[in-house]
Amino acid sequence: TGLAEDVSALVARRRKSFGAASVLFYEEPLKMLRAEGARMYASDGRAYLDFYNNVPTVGHCHPKVVEAVQKQIETLNIHSRYLFDISHDYAEKLLATYPAALSNLVLVCTGSEANDLALRIARKASGGTGFVVTETAYHGNTAAVTEVSPSSYKTGAPPAHVRTVPAPDPAIYGMDIVGGFAAAVEEAIAAMKADGIEPAGLLVDTIFSSDGVYADPPGFLAPAVEVMRRSGGVYIADEVQPGFARTGAGMWGFARHGVEPDIVTMGKPMGNGYPIAGLVTRPELLSAFCDDFGYFNTFAASPVATAAAMAVLEAIEEDGLIANAARVGAHLTQRLEALRQQVPTMAAVRGAGLYLGVEFRTADDEPAPEIATGLINGLREHGILIGAAGRYGNTLKIRPPLCVTEADTDLLVDAMADLLT
Ligand code: PMP
Repeated sequence: TGLAEDVSALVARRRKSFGAASVLFYEEPLKMLRAEGARMYASDGRAYLDFYNNVPTVGHCHPKVVEAVQKQIETLNIHSRYLFDISHDYAEKLLATYPAALSNLVLVCTGSEANDLALRIARKASGGTGFVVTETAYHGNTAAVTEVSPSSYKTGAPPAHVRTVPAPDPAIYGMDIVGGFAAAVEEAIAAMKADGIEPAGLLVDTIFSSDGVYADPPGFLAPAVEVMRRSGGVYIADEVQPGFARTGAGMWGFARHGVEPDIVTMGKPMGNGYPIAGLVTRPELLSAFCDDFGYFNTFAASPVATAAAMAVLEAIEEDGLIANAARVGAHLTQRLEALRQQVPTMAAVRGAGLYLGVEFRTADDEPAPEIATGLINGLREHGILIGAAGRYGNTLKIRPPLCVTEADTDLLVDAMADLLT
């Protein structure tokens, strides 16, 4: 058909121009035309319900964000070395969502840049160079951040200054996640010290998305953070995935653990698709770093970027998205739990708010990535977009725009039931 030819011609052009670094979803990739709310509209004439994308967190093409960007881009768009109102208004509004001590904001363009800067600030603050991360962590794509992102490695092992601990998975630590995870961090620190490397920090995604989504028990991170601090290192909370209302219990995933980070990094949902990311820390940590280095980021904190980000904060409030994430997330969790009673390979349903993981295991209790992959493809046929995470890719990763409704989540669970039973 014309449609299939159009898609395969685009795939060929893509390979030719963008080469090996360009990755597509699905054997027959989808060509998207437009998107709105929680739906994306493809060239095959179908609407796809989006359970994959956490960037358009207030909804695809949210009118408030569109209007803010349009108005600002036709008025003023410059770099941050001049005064203008919007970025200061934004900084104050964003910082008000944080604990009082975290009172300085650095705006950047990507989560990777935020984490790259976080590593540098942590090194200055601690005097150490080593980092502890989880085994399947992803924190971004710069040279330094790739080193602390074991999930990016296709070959080889992390360099000596990077030590990994297993994800906070009950299958690994048993019932004592709290003690087990802290003990693993302690061991990792001891191992790096034995090699003459002093620790700089513990860097974790506070909902452990790429590890397979681990949110429970609340508070399990606190003792691990204490262990790192006793050794002189800092705690960097990567909020790129859980941040901006997704967990349904406030703005930030770290709050679940009852321990204040020294540095917090943000990205993805921050501008609902307009590239803006950031880092929040205590003034003394930032000024110590700035004694050694200048930091300037050409495109960061521009009036347009901050207008997009301001519209996101306002939309989260006006559309009641924290409450929606909690309510719809609870409904979805309940329905998935009910389905789990009928499907023996559904080993676990976990997460917080509208960030959920559904783990699949075989009858012999082995990871079952083939079930997750089968579901990703089967759900596409049902008009639903979704992905997988975890060390074995056997955990379905559910993270829709936060404007998704209970009825939308029913469509997901009904389709899963159809495919699994
Ligand atoms: N941290 C986490 C937890 C992420 O998931 C990602 C992106 N997937 C990043 C950092 C990097 O963000 P970016 O792609 O904007 O550089």
